[in-house]
Amino acid sequence: MKSRYKVAIQGIVQGVGFRPFVYQQALARRLTGYVTNTSHGVDLEVEGEGLELDDFIRTLRQDPPPLSRITSLEFQPLPPQGDSEFTILQSQAQKTRSALISPDVAVCPDCLRELRDPRDRRYRYPFINCTNCGPRYTIIKDIPYDRAKTTMAAFTLCPECSAEYHDPLNRRFHAQPNACWTCGPRVTLLDGAGQPLDCEDPIAETARLLREGWVVAIKGLGGFHLAVEAVQEEAVRRLRQRKHREEKPLALMCPDLARVREFARVEAEEEEVLCSRERPILLLRKKEPSPVAPAVAPGNQYYGVMLPYTPLHYLLLDQGFLALVLTSGNLSEEPICIDNEEAFVRLKGIADYFLVHNRDIHLRSDDSIVQQVSGSLRQLRRSRGFVPIPVFLAEPLAPILACGAELKNTVCLTKDNRAFISQHVGDLENLETLHFFEQTIEHLKQILQIEPEVIAYDLHPDYLSTRYALEQEGVELIGVQHHFAHLVGCLAEHGLNEKVIGLTLDGSGYGLDGRIWGGEVLVGDCGSFERCGHFAYLPLPGGARAVKEPWRMAVSYLYQAYGEKLWDLPLPLLERIDRSQLEILVQMIQKGINSPLTSSCGRLFDGVAALIGLRDTVAFEGQAAMELEMIQGREVEAPYDFEVLRSQEALQILPQPIIRGVVEDIRQGASRERISRRFHRTLVEVLTRVCQILREDWGLGKVALGGGVFQNRTLLMEMEARLRAEGFQVFSKSLVPSNDGGISLGQAVAAHYMRRKMTAVSTRR
Ligand code: ZN
Ligand code: ZN
Ligand code: FE
Repeated sequence: MKSRYKVAIQGIVQGVGFRPFVYQQALARRLTGYVTNTSHGVDLEVEGEGLELDDFIRTLRQDPPPLSRITSLEFQPLPPQGDSEFTILQSQAQKTRSALISPDVAVCPDCLRELRDPRDRRYRYPFINCTNCGPRYTIIKDIPYDRAKTTMAAFTLCPECSAEYHDPLNRRFHAQPNACWTCGPRVTLLDGAGQPLDCEDPIAETARLLREGWVVAIKGLGGFHLAVEAVQEEAVRRLRQRKHREEKPLALMCPDLARVREFARVEAEEEEVLCSRERPILLLRKKEPSPVAPAVAPGNQYYGVMLPYTPLHYLLLDQGFLALVLTSGNLSEEPICIDNEEAFVRLKGIADYFLVHNRDIHLRSDDSIVQQVSGSLRQLRRSRGFVPIPVFLAEPLAPILACGAELKNTVCLTKDNRAFISQHVGDLENLETLHFFEQTIEHLKQILQIEPEVIAYDLHPDYLSTRYALEQEGVELIGVQHHFAHLVGCLAEHGLNEKVIGLTLDGSGYGLDGRIWGGEVLVGDCGSFERCGHFAYLPLPGGARAVKEPWRMAVSYLYQAYGEKLWDLPLPLLERIDRSQLEILVQMIQKGINSPLTSSCGRLFDGVAALIGLRDTVAFEGQAAMELEMIQGREVEAPYDFEVLRSQEALQILPQPIIRGVVEDIRQGASRERISRRFHRTLVEVLTRVCQILREDWGLGKVALGGGVFQNRTLLMEMEARLRAEGFQVFSKSLVPSNDGGISLGQAVAAHYMRRKMTAVSTRR
């Protein structure tokens, strides 16, 4: 008895070998029918014996091709037609498109085997790929995803590659970047002046140069890296000095897990992340003593480690390295280089040699950075490997462009129930990055076929992203408060739209009162919020300088807690810093000169870090806070006293008792480890208290965590645990970064619901 089904599949099902997979599965079960790509995904009809059909559908659901992601699979019975074979039909004419584009994918086990097999025709070929792996997002210029619209268009398939490309039973059937030694891209090694070096094996020669301690710029998948051998302290220092990257940790690439274990601890779930096809940089706890040069990650208990993700990386790392430092090929602050010519100009004087190739990168994409906390993967920088996989939303949205904030900028475009967050754009503080920001918006609009009706932006008038938004014409503009966007980002990720308590802790964001917010307790849903609590305001003496110089914050907190009596405190900080500098600063605070008020939580970390002598100035954003977390002791400690003040408009968390506690500990000679531990505990306690008060006031039992401060593992883990112990349901971010890299998602979703509320109000009138 034969049956027939019509099956419609949506998700990432194009360009990932889905049709050949269906074809093979049908053939294996002697089913007939057809499969085809449509504007929405893949459609197919299958006919055969009932049991075989059920097994076929089960396989589609449970064991689809590795790169596919099925977001919906619907099937309905049809009358049998008695066709005689199974065919792959030509793609149907496509008017509107919602088929998803695949991210770039690490080289697959099959290709890796061929790469290392002397009998294979692609033996040691640096661009080997197949339908299950290889470049995607970074080489796509336009849609539909076909070779002619990628940067592979410049290479004509040789007869052998072409035969593979056209054979539905071949692993390279319709693999757009398919290539080999005969027809595909090549690598070349160049000296610092851009002159090709005469060598038989450019990769082996690169390995030799790295072992000699040279800095080599290596063209990768989403941009150039700068490489040195990770065990050579002097080479690492030289790289830092040339790149003007003094202290920020550098990423490592390691040939395999065994080698990673020589210098870092890898838990079972972390092992999976390292080996995943996204191949992000994962933060792993250092082993001491470590063979890796100290200059790789000074003042940090973690290394950022990734495994090779392109064939070129494998060939290079296979040359006997423990690890290479592989950091983005740019001067600090600028976007990563992608173009050969551009690299020679911008990396001149930084790189001694260049290992380049002639497959163009169309869109840059930095390596993603993640950490594993409380059983979940946490994004710190969501980029290569994850982009452009959308976040799926609870409801369909209007086409919205959200411009993000300033630091760690990303943008977000929405279509139906999908939010597409861009790759990491960077800190929007210079023209190069602004240009990349604009280019990313245009490119995403093009390949996703989205023409935004609404643009959402941050309220900070000076952010370049805000200025960009306000210059756009013919669209509705909606400003979204920074911390509200953090909160809504968390709600969106969890498909929530109801009133919750939002603990939103970060360095800074423009507040509704024009002050610098950053330690905010909001009550809100996706469309509106109230600010129900915050850290008490205090002056930020010197404005932006106070962010770069935490000692200024320490003095501001001391003044807030002790007033003029601060001069009597026996604190090393007051000895360390020049007296006249201190006096000027105190005057600035007293007179309110260049001292905007802030309720920042990040600055409280800075202030405490400076007070205990960890760091008076920082080389990068969040450094003092990070080091304060790292230094933390493991002993059980009591929290400091704390106080929550109920004022008319909102609860205020007073820093004074916490600061007095820290000062008292310093006086009594308590260790920095102990003070840091007590400080973390205090924050967890005081924030839990605030949530309890708000639960009584509002009857709310759900808490959403957001903001860059929750990159702090301790705080995230303990806050979650503590609130759960008190009976709260806790939501934190995992798909998008908790830092400002996740702001664009929140802006887009908030703008949608704010707009809806506005329309509701105006219709009521
Ligand atoms: Zn492959
Ligand atoms: Zn070929
Ligand atoms: Fe923020």
